Amino acid sequence: MPVVLGIDDTDSRERGMCTTYVARTVADGIRDAGGEVERLLLVRLNPAVPYKTRGNAALAVHADIDPEAAFDVAHDVLAAAAETDDENTNPGLVVAPHAPEDAPDDVAAFARDAMRDHHAIDDATELADAHGYHRAGWKNARGTIGALAAVGAWRAVPEWTYEYISYRYPDARGTPRDVDYDSVFAAADEAYPAAWDTVDRGEGQAVCVPRTPGPILHGIRGDDPETVREVAERIESEPVESTALFRTNQGTDAHLRDAALADARDGRSYRVDATVADPPETREGGHVFLTLKDGDAALDCAAFEPTKRFRDRVRALRAGDRITACGEVADGTLKLEKFAVRDLNGTELVTPDCPECGRSMKSAGRNQGYRCRDCGTAAAGKVDRPVDRELERGWYEVPPCARRHIAKPLVRGGFDAPTHPEK
Ligand code: ATP
Repeated sequence: MPVVLGIDDTDSRERGMCTTYVARTVADGIRDAGGEVERLLLVRLNPAVPYKTRGNAALAVHADIDPEAAFDVAHDVLAAAAETDDENTNPGLVVAPHAPEDAPDDVAAFARDAMRDHHAIDDATELADAHGYHRAGWKNARGTIGALAAVGAWRAVPEWTYEYISYRYPDARGTPRDVDYDSVFAAADEAYPAAWDTVDRGEGQAVCVPRTPGPILHGIRGDDPETVREVAERIESEPVESTALFRTNQGTDAHLRDAALADARDGRSYRVDATVADPPETREGGHVFLTLKDGDAALDCAAFEPTKRFRDRVRALRAGDRITACGEVADGTLKLEKFAVRDLNGTELVTPDCPECGRSMKSAGRNQGYRCRDCGTAAAGKVDRPVDRELERGWYEVPPCARRHIAKPLVRGGFDAPTHPEK
């Protein structure tokens, strides 16, 4: 019988577990119990939720097995994962006795909202109960939110990408990862752009190798399952304990909602059209700030230091430029992930030059315009002068090293203007 298992919040910062590994372990348990596993989903939910450990991931296992048996297998795995003192680890499990495509409309809508908005724990438990799903929650059971969202995700996510994860042997975990970085860069170059965000060439960083503790050796992201597997297999490294292929909404911008600037609220991510009001300013720590406006509404915007060379693009903006800005709003500030230049302000107001001698004119007094004392020429006021602009029309983005899991790299295409991809 088709079953969808949703799993979330089995992570602990201190123990460095990871929910993808828990899902993979559940999948093994299902096979051992005589069931079949069709696929694994790695669903990134609203990156602005405050409870997340890191990337706000929820997992689904699509299987063919008796739902009670599926529940028993997953319950045992999660109960073990729940044995942590980390107060932020609140596992949740939801088992839906239907095929992934048969998730009810309200469960699909719950998943859609989980990527862009905020849910309460009760909303998740009530909706799961209304559909007769089996569920379990540990501690405050907040993981039920992500678990139910993972159940509805197959219908809520319009576009899927892939991640192929290779795991470390247990005795290696916590020690430095032994990976041959030349082989990572070579494999990444070969597969680009079907595999993306494998490395950051500008920073010389292997983005696919996590820097936090945990069982993942590397995770390769891309548009198709063959490419991501091939890249992983070309990487030379310490022995790999096991691997798993996930379908995911990573790299899709599923978190962004279109809105007017005036409607942007904390805790959500947006795509807004606006004009640059105050020019960009670099402040302590290398963070770049600017203010956007649209009509009477204004919104602060930031490109923080970790966005590296993206800040040069942001600094190249001028007051009067029309842009579309994308990013999460927190504390009243939109944290830029990408922006599109729609219209560049190509002129600046300057003191006129004398038409006779070519030298800059001098002010003739308050509100009296300008004149050239030597030649006796006069001008009524400042004049427009064209400025050279480094930016072109189209989309600019943060580099791979600063990419949010859910954010869509420009190289994936489908944007409404020319793109300037970072790689
Ligand atoms: P990692 O990336 O290391 O796997 P994580 O960042 O995925 O960890 P979780 O441990 O899954 O973090 O914690 C996120 C918590 O927030 C979960 O309990 C999940 O149910 C909850 N959550 C997810 N999305 C929402 C939402 N939209 N509204 C409210 N709570 C949410």
